[in-house]
Amino acid sequence: MAARGIADLDLQGRRVFIRVDFNVPLTPAGGVSDATRIRESLPTINHAIERGARVVLASHLGRPKGRARPDLSLLPVAAYLAEALGRDVVLADEPAGDGAKKVVNDLRDGGVAMLENLRFSPGEEANDETFARGLATYADVYVNDAFATAHRAHASTAGMVKYVASKGMGFLLEREVKMLGKLVGEVERPFVAVIGGTKVADKIGLLENLLGRADVVCLGGAMANTFLSAQGVGMGRSLVEPSKLPIARAFLAKAESSGGRIILPRDLVVAEDARAEAGTVVPATCVPDGQAAFDIGPESVAEMSGVLSRARTVFWNGPMGVFESPAFAAGTLGVAKAMASVMGGTTVVGGGDLAAAVERAGVTPSITHVSTGGGASLEFIEGKKLPGLAALES
Ligand code: ADP
Ligand code: MG
Repeated sequence: MAARGIADLDLQGRRVFIRVDFNVPLTPAGGVSDATRIRESLPTINHAIERGARVVLASHLGRPKGRARPDLSLLPVAAYLAEALGRDVVLADEPAGDGAKKVVNDLRDGGVAMLENLRFSPGEEANDETFARGLATYADVYVNDAFATAHRAHASTAGMVKYVASKGMGFLLEREVKMLGKLVGEVERPFVAVIGGTKVADKIGLLENLLGRADVVCLGGAMANTFLSAQGVGMGRSLVEPSKLPIARAFLAKAESSGGRIILPRDLVVAEDARAEAGTVVPATCVPDGQAAFDIGPESVAEMSGVLSRARTVFWNGPMGVFESPAFAAGTLGVAKAMASVMGGTTVVGGGDLAAAVERAGVTPSITHVSTGGGASLEFIEGKKLPGLAALES
């Protein structure tokens, strides 16, 4: 049976366990530095409160690797949320156990409690049965609104769900599934994919999947370096993944024989290192010795913009360069502007770093959907079954 939405669940007076993804970046002083993920789940939390639920929120934060770490407490998140909701949020001192149980038992209708960082317990990532059962004792209703973690089979996203009778998707999860769903199966054409960032290994599955489905695949960022290198281009000191050269070569050969159109950068912005104040544009035929490519050049932006201007469906993951530095941000900003001007089609951005870049470019409102999921959005578009979604079905 297809997963239900929270609007269809009976919440009044019930303990509603909401798995959120509040894995937000913190400031050095321990405050919340970007609250996007918290804000994105507010509609779900407010809905539960208005329906008179006893709300139990659960999230992970960072990588505490199964032990309590005060610097990764959800305390600043609970404080931010209390402010945003205009009501108390009681934080338990542990993810499960007597402290958590008491906080949940003390809840009244419309009240909000939060469990401490789930990954303080090794049972969370191990999807341990005992830990999962323990979490389920806090829930009459299970709601998942943590899209960014839906590709993980953890106790709070998968293991506990079978022990709760009533379950469904929060509004954020529903929107992600609906919007990313537009890129799976039949899509409006031309369908253009733009893939940048780093780590060929993480994205090769997606690339191979897109090769058969997208009309054009544009490559940029450090990703493109490895593919250029595979074509025999000298890349100087650029970030290249030598162990992935065979995969890149095989991919390019497959693209050629299948007629899939791949666009690699024609020109690059190079410098001695990423802290340089400015770079030099060179053709993508040879990166000078001692230099590295940190962005795609203006001709590449123009070519990709041309392709994007005719697109009806676009998926973009990973920045085109080291956008964190103004000297190497032009490629990413240029492609962001081109994507924002696609009229009437569906444009989707996925990936944590890219979402930040698009926000910085000021074009987020012109993009159809900016996914809160990095790895989860890639796996979804690849057509993989996400464990967090599968657990909500049946
Ligand atoms: P996302 O989070 O959007 O999926 P990734 O995590 O794969 O993206 O990659 C983002 C990082 O890639 C950014 O920090 C950016 O600085 C870096 N990057 C992009 N292009 C290059 C390049 N040419 N050389 C080195 N790093 C790059
Ligand atoms: Mg990233």
